[in-house]
Amino acid sequence: MSRFLSDRFSDIEPYTPGEQPKNTNLVKLNTNESPFPPSERVIRALNAAEISRLNLYSDPETKEVIAAIAEVLNVKPDQIMMGNGSDEILAFAFQAFCDKEHPPCFADITYGFYPVFCRLFGLNPEIIPLKDDLTIDPADYCDKNKPIFIANPNAPTGLTLSICEIKNILDTNRDTIVLIDEAYVDFGGQSAIPLINEYDNLIVCRTFSKSRNLAGARLGFAVSNSSVIEDLNKMKFSFNPYNINRLSIIAGKESILDTEYFEECIIKIKENREYTVNELTKRGFSIPESKANFIFAKPCGITGTEFYKKLREKNILVRHFDTERIKDYVRITIGSYEQMQTLINATDEILGR
Ligand code: PMP
Repeated sequence: MSRFLSDRFSDIEPYTPGEQPKNTNLVKLNTNESPFPPSERVIRALNAAEISRLNLYSDPETKEVIAAIAEVLNVKPDQIMMGNGSDEILAFAFQAFCDKEHPPCFADITYGFYPVFCRLFGLNPEIIPLKDDLTIDPADYCDKNKPIFIANPNAPTGLTLSICEIKNILDTNRDTIVLIDEAYVDFGGQSAIPLINEYDNLIVCRTFSKSRNLAGARLGFAVSNSSVIEDLNKMKFSFNPYNINRLSIIAGKESILDTEYFEECIIKIKENREYTVNELTKRGFSIPESKANFIFAKPCGITGTEFYKKLREKNILVRHFDTERIKDYVRITIGSYEQMQTLINATDEILGR
């Protein structure tokens, strides 16, 4: 730390992203990326002509990608805003809708960036513990009267709330923002997007990083009513108007329009998830029912930390969190079938089977 950093930030503990190793021989199952390449349409569209236009700023209104999303999700373009990853959407939402009088609330075990945003923006969140089985109790979120942030499916558990449960939370919190972070919803969750015309306080946050195979493009978006989108745009245009670069605008547009490839990839991830859950369950692991592109697995006969380390020695990278409540688990991204077979074989060697 230099002597110039403002005192406001001196004791912030930044978000720790999963490792992004240079070594491409690793089986990388640690950051919930897609194992599949972007759509062919994306690759074709990112051609020399587009690259040669990088001397010009991108469209600050990101109209092309918004029009494509609006068409596919059946919402109006003014109900969408693009972010540099959904992380940026989340940052704008914490900044725009929370303050000392309106502190946010969220689960004790959820996306690790929420508490970091709170520190960054000087917010004092209410932390709501998950139940013993790691599920969210929707009753805990009724009548909160403060901004609510819920990842659905939740991370790192992969567990979901039903649309009825979300509706209940919305019904009892009409006068405060409810943000549903749907980073993983395409892998089996129920989306709250159909509710946006019914609830003017709902924001749904989505990403291209998982089900659209574009983590490196840094593209996320918010869906809400047009006034909330206007507020989020106020944050964006007061911070970084050209937040989405030219190539990502094109990549996002082509990827969302390629429904066929999207569905093909989702089917494969679900099959590979089922295979991995079955094989690990046979080996005594406990795994909450995941609707995401990862599973949260508690090994049998070995600690979570040991299992993580032993996998690492075998060049397989998964995620382990040192938090007391979940230290017995590892989070395993669902990769290709071959990658999951490699994981199972390695598990057998580690368990001495
Ligand atoms: N929400 C959740 C629940 C996540 O796990 C992640 C990925 N780390 C994000 C949001 C952010 O994803 P991105 O910024 O890549 O869109």
